[in-house]
Amino acid sequence: MTNNAASTAKINLLGLDRSGLGAFFVEQMGEKRFRADQVMKWMYHYFADDFEQMTDVGKALRQRLAEVAQIRVPSVQVDQQSTDGTRKWLLSLDGGNGIEAVFIPEPRRGTLCVSSQVGCGLNCRFCATGKQGFNRNLTSAEIVGQVWHVARTLAQQTPPRRITNVVMMGMGEPLLNFDNVVTAMNIMRDDFGFGLANKRVTLSTAGLVPKIDELSDAADVSLAVSLHAPDDALRDHLVPLNKKYPIAELLDACRRYQARRPRSSITFEYTLMKDINDSPAQARALVKRLRTLPSKLNLIPFNPFPGTEFECSEPETIETFQRIVHEAGIITTLRRTRGQDIDAACGQLAGMVDDRTRRSEQFRQEVLERARRAAA
Ligand code: SAH
Repeated sequence: MTNNAASTAKINLLGLDRSGLGAFFVEQMGEKRFRADQVMKWMYHYFADDFEQMTDVGKALRQRLAEVAQIRVPSVQVDQQSTDGTRKWLLSLDGGNGIEAVFIPEPRRGTLCVSSQVGCGLNCRFCATGKQGFNRNLTSAEIVGQVWHVARTLAQQTPPRRITNVVMMGMGEPLLNFDNVVTAMNIMRDDFGFGLANKRVTLSTAGLVPKIDELSDAADVSLAVSLHAPDDALRDHLVPLNKKYPIAELLDACRRYQARRPRSSITFEYTLMKDINDSPAQARALVKRLRTLPSKLNLIPFNPFPGTEFECSEPETIETFQRIVHEAGIITTLRRTRGQDIDAACGQLAGMVDDRTRRSEQFRQEVLERARRAAA
């Protein structure tokens, strides 16, 4: 067996949450469950990636661990910093694919945007990841590995920084990689893990209704829903998943999720695209929809990417839209576009996707055709 094959055969402990790691120690190592707490502290509080660093774990156990397990983080392919401080990492995974993670520093918090899949199968029309097609789900170790890598990098810089919030808003649809995402979010929220408060871990979904109900049972995290349109005809077009789970059903699922977390509200994301979904009438229609449940609205100016048919709304249009929603009593935030110079803004993440759906080839043809027409 080559070294490489041996290392991939070992179990990656970054993929096990506390109950999984406890079971690993009890069932596979014949040890006590508390070993999980001990090892997690080393991994997540001191960023140890070598069992030899774990000095309060006996030498014999350290050696046994090194034989069957590893702490392996995706390797960094590219590390780019934007003029506004936003930083993006392209991380390579086994099998040659790559995913992106983005850190957005703000004066009082630092948000990490994490990917859940290589590419995405949902094909939302205005999203660069969707245009890349889908390759595979990330393992829980690969999801946690993004947080681990960035947390360690930030802890080691001067002055050090901390991740205070994680949003599952990078590449992919997190609810289509349910188990791995839930395991990873458990580690993010565990005091022996990254120790983030429940409400500081946010899962963003395009609206998989049955999975929202499952999530409600499985993890107490903040929920964000990508709405983007006040009516089904338009949403069918922008977010094809809407044909399966139309707005009324989606909002019912959100209501059920919220009802079990009475002090929380659901965040609705709404990407503003010029002459598509940004009119005052659409703002009023949106208000009617959102008034029926405790909600916040997050307006995102559309971030263009090569070959897209959409444009960003005009600043005055955005202002009017925001005012209408705000005056109706819905808390509205306008997401400042960050990291645009390094293509790290919402919906621009593209990674290195070896597309299994062949969608990227169709998209390439569309772009070429458009260029031909423009030149004619
Ligand atoms: N699959 C999840 C996570 C996607 S990315 C979801 O759909 O929620 C996070 C947000 O960025 C989503 O609201 C997504 O619709 C939005 N987005 C995608 N492409 C965008 C673009 N080009 N400009 C602005 N927002 C975009």
